[in-house]
Amino acid sequence: MKEITLFEKPLPVTPVVPLSGDYGDNHFYIKRDDMLPFSFGGNKVRKAAEFYREIKNSDTDVVMTYGSNSSNHCRIIANMAASMGLACHVISPEENRERLYNTAFVEQLGAVIETCPVTKVAETIENRKAAYRREGKHPYFIIGGGHGRPGTESYVKAYREICAYEKENGIYFDYIFHASGTGATQAGLVCGQLLNGDRDRQIVGISIAREQGRGRTVVKDSIREYLGERFAELYREDALLFTDEYRFDGYGNYSGEVLSLIDRVMEREGIPLDTTYVGKAFYGMCAFLKEHDIKDKNVLFIHTGGTPLYFDLLLKTGRR
Ligand SMILES: *Cc1c(COP(=O)(O)O)cnc(C)c1O
Repeated sequence: MKEITLFEKPLPVTPVVPLSGDYGDNHFYIKRDDMLPFSFGGNKVRKAAEFYREIKNSDTDVVMTYGSNSSNHCRIIANMAASMGLACHVISPEENRERLYNTAFVEQLGAVIETCPVTKVAETIENRKAAYRREGKHPYFIIGGGHGRPGTESYVKAYREICAYEKENGIYFDYIFHASGTGATQAGLVCGQLLNGDRDRQIVGISIAREQGRGRTVVKDSIREYLGERFAELYREDALLFTDEYRFDGYGNYSGEVLSLIDRVMEREGIPLDTTYVGKAFYGMCAFLKEHDIKDKNVLFIHTGGTPLYFDLLLKTGRR
C-alpha cells in the first residue's frame, strides 16, 4: 500500500474570504473547503484524510463505498484508493444514471462501479463484501458520504480551524451555515462547538435532501457516537439547528432562484456553487437570515465543494 504524503500531516488550513456582493444585511465570509488540495477539493477530502489513516493501519486491499453518480464522495474515495494502489469498488443506485463529470472521473480512476436498484443497496453491499472475503481479500467499507466517526472527527478539526482564524483576525462568526447531507459535517462542527464551550454562536445545517425529523436524528446520533460518555454533560438541543425549509422536496431539486443566485455568486465572487449542495445551501442561508430578520451579524458559509458539478451545470442547455 502506498502513502499519500498530503494525508500524512494535518491538511493545510483553507482560506476564509469576505464576499463582495450584496446577499442581505449581514457580513458574509466563505471558508473555501472546496480548495482542499486533493481531487478538486470539498468536505469529502477532510473525511478521506481520516479514513486514510484507518485504511493505512489495516490490511485492506479493496476500498468499497456507496454513492450516486453525482457523488463527490465516490470521486475522492476512488482517487484515494488509486493513489494508494488499492482497488476500489463503488456501489451505486441504478436510478439516475446520467453520466456526470464525477461518474466519468470515477471510471477514469479504474474503480469498479456496480449498480443496483436503490431498494437492494444494503443487500448488494453485504453480498459483495462476502464475495471479496471468500476470495481471501480484505475489503474496507466506507459508509456513503463518508459518514461515521472519522467523518465527524474531520469537521471537529475544521471547527478548530475556524476558531483559530477568529482569534488571529479579531472576528467572531455569529452564524455558521453549511449544506447538510449525511450529517457528518454538521455533527463535527457541533461537537467542535460543544467541546469548546461556545454558547453564543449558531451553526445552521441546511438540508439538501432529508426531512427535519430524520435529518436531525442522524446528526444527533453522530454527535452521541463521537462524544461518547461526555454526551450527557455537553449536548444541548439548541446547538443542533437542522432545517429542511430549503430542500425543494429532495436531493437534486432546486429552483430558478437558486440558479440565478449561483450565477450571481460566480460572476461577482468567482466562486462556483452547484445546485445539489452548496448553491442550494447558500440560497437557504440567505433566505433563513431574511426570514428570521437577522441583521449586522458576521456570517460564515462553509463551501463544502462539489466543483465538478458546477461544470455539469454549466454545460446544461438552455441556461440563458
Ligand atoms: C457530501 C457533501 C455535503 C454534505 O456533507 P455531509 O457531511 O454528508 O452532511 C455538502 N456539500 C458537498 C459539496 C458534498 O459533497
